[in-house]
Amino acid sequence: MKDGLLKAMSSDGTIRAVIATTTELVELARRKHNLSFTATAALGRALTAGALLAPILAREGQVALKFQGNGPLGKVVVDASPRGTVRGYVENPQVELPLNSLGNFDVGGAIGHQGYLHVTIDHGFGMPQMSTVELASGEVGEDVNRYLVTSDQTGSLVVVGTHLSKNGVEAAGGLIVQLLPDHTEETICKIENNISTFGTFTFLMRRGMDLENILSRILNGFDVTPLTEVKPVSFYCKCTKERFVEALKVLSREDLMDMVEVEGRAEGRCQFCNELYLVEKEGLLDIARGK
Ligand SMILES: [Zn+2]
Repeated sequence: MKDGLLKAMSSDGTIRAVIATTTELVELARRKHNLSFTATAALGRALTAGALLAPILAREGQVALKFQGNGPLGKVVVDASPRGTVRGYVENPQVELPLNSLGNFDVGGAIGHQGYLHVTIDHGFGMPQMSTVELASGEVGEDVNRYLVTSDQTGSLVVVGTHLSKNGVEAAGGLIVQLLPDHTEETICKIENNISTFGTFTFLMRRGMDLENILSRILNGFDVTPLTEVKPVSFYCKCTKERFVEALKVLSREDLMDMVEVEGRAEGRCQFCNELYLVEKEGLLDIARGK
């Protein structure tokens, strides 16, 4: 199934949902960053959360998530735009932990059970809005849920999952359900019941269900209609060689000449996509001459 995102709303106006499949983009992130299984599970959930949150929180610009926990994975950083692009990285991509007591990848242990989730909404104009919540568990879904409940004062349910085999990412995706003011107490219970009855998000994906089908299973009992067509989501990084060269141009002539003499070239690696950019000696001398 190709990666995609769908927005939906119930006809009685009590719930709103965003649902996405992200298998290809998480697999691409795994390869670009050479991630361990645990790191793939963690970054996969975070990338999916970013893809789901961006269209909820912003119309333009971008939404950035930074999970800063006390676990061995270090920072997990993601940014996503409402246009369906997302990118991200983890500080220590090789960290591997044993499975947890439920037999799942120990994302909570890897990110850490204590720490903060920082969310920055940049609408593309004015000052970005920044907020911070304490991590709920480091499991990503619960942390994003805590952020939504704290910042929006509305109930929500966040499900994000990554299913891996030794070959890589088999299925990744998730959904965010927001409870609108008219919801009843039973709404959340009903959705949680559906999930335990029909299986997890990635289980439904691996059964070959498309977004509409998964949505109708998880939101069984609610009359939910898609608000949009399925829109593409993908891993996309805006870094380019030109940007790297522009950054070098900011350096002083002395620093540039130092680089020429000591290393003979300039090297820069993009944190978000791990792309390596090189400017050889001649290129550096050209930039220095322009000073
Ligand atoms: Zn990049």
